[in-house]
Amino acid sequence: MKEKVYYGKEIEVMFNSDVCIHSGICVKGLPGVFDLSKRPWVSPDADTAEAIAQHIDTCPSGALTYRLLDDNFSTKKEDEHA
Ligand code: SF4
Repeated sequence: MKEKVYYGKEIEVMFNSDVCIHSGICVKGLPGVFDLSKRPWVSPDADTAEAIAQHIDTCPSGALTYRLLDDNFSTKKEDEHA
């Protein structure tokens, strides 16, 4: 599995080139974030984490995934065990 991670301040974007079906939805929908002419081609800080996450949800193959770096979520989970 060839997965790459692109680190942003509020979101981490993971891309698995093995499962990408090259639909182009990512680059057409958010060209400021997903730009194949740039290196790296994913800029996780070029839009809000929410907008990027919502757009990644439309990736038809699951090649793009993300992890929101929202402390509230993990803190809440930890609090449950406190
Ligand atoms: S939207 Fe998903 S399947 Fe389509 S090109 Fe982008 S990563 Fe590949």
